[in-house]
Amino acid sequence: MKIAFFSTKPYDKEFFEKYNQTNELAFYEVSLNESSAKLAEGFDAICIFVNDKINVSIIEKLAQAGIKLIALRSAGFNNVDLDAAKKANITVVRVPAYSPHAVAEHAVALIMTLNRKTHKAYNRVREGNFSLEKLIGFDLFQKTVGIIGTGKIGEAFARIMLGFGCKVVAYDISQNQILIDLGIKYCSFDEVLQQADIISLHCPLTDKTLHLIDKQAIAKMKNGIMLINTSRGALIDTPAVVEALKTKKLGYLGLDVYEQEANIFFNDLSEEILVDDTLARLMSFPNVLITSHQGFLTEEALTQISVITFNNITAFEQRKKSGNEVLI
Ligand code: NAD
Repeated sequence: MKIAFFSTKPYDKEFFEKYNQTNELAFYEVSLNESSAKLAEGFDAICIFVNDKINVSIIEKLAQAGIKLIALRSAGFNNVDLDAAKKANITVVRVPAYSPHAVAEHAVALIMTLNRKTHKAYNRVREGNFSLEKLIGFDLFQKTVGIIGTGKIGEAFARIMLGFGCKVVAYDISQNQILIDLGIKYCSFDEVLQQADIISLHCPLTDKTLHLIDKQAIAKMKNGIMLINTSRGALIDTPAVVEALKTKKLGYLGLDVYEQEANIFFNDLSEEILVDDTLARLMSFPNVLITSHQGFLTEEALTQISVITFNNITAFEQRKKSGNEVLI
């Protein structure tokens, strides 16, 4: 099949070319938007990533261009208007699981860095400053970790935190028996907020989870709590979180995702003026750590993303089901 890739970075090209067998590939650095949609003309399928926002109007343009398949090289699919795709007879496939460990381990990296301040210690020592002032952390052992969403990534994360000797409490709309067997306690959403010293978000972004962490939710949390979001930016009402950081209600914030990350994350803007004041404010706090959506970025995950995406495309071409169709 002829496949047009949007929002591609050198590592996408490297891994997709490595695992391609029979398809004809074109890699565009530009994200898929109203004007770049015409680049899809002459292709059978497009392959997109998390910040390619596919609305009704773009779906219409893709349908006119002859696109029959949208292959998401991500697990999340909140960025695609599925109703519009269905009406246009365009199939949507995704990579539901590639390496839950990649994201779970990144969440742990955020916790460890925020807690033990290794990012600050690294810079200090390189500058000949061997002082330990302001580097005090806390033991993770016996702390209570709250997990919102205990699917593949939440489960991998829970296993790691159990290994640290943490008590793990969780909220999900459906319970994971493996975790219950491991001793994890399911509670209501409010109980997780009230009990946890660290909260990590691992549920998808849906109408129900939009701004799940808002002013009211934050008010129920312990003072000085650590909040980690490696899932989707809009799970958090960012201005409410900024206020909570200012009052010290929130003691630490680790983000791999941000509601307004499109056009910012994945790009080198080091010589540009940052116009997003909320992000600039977040970056100004000493107890906030932001990474630009790199939870998935491991060799193992990139390999799986490429292999599964090609399997999805081949199944579609052969009129078979891959099992990774996004259905509504
Ligand atoms: P999953 O489908 O295996 O698990 C999601 C869990 O969330 C399920 O157990 C589900 O029941 C639960 N859930 C759904 N609605 C909920 C609600 N209203 N309240 C509480 N729980 C709810 O998905 P996964 O593979 O574990 O991925 C989770 C999320 O991680 C994805 O949706 C995606 O947004 C994000 N993600 C981020 C990266 C990254 O690079 N940072 C990479 C992959 C995935």
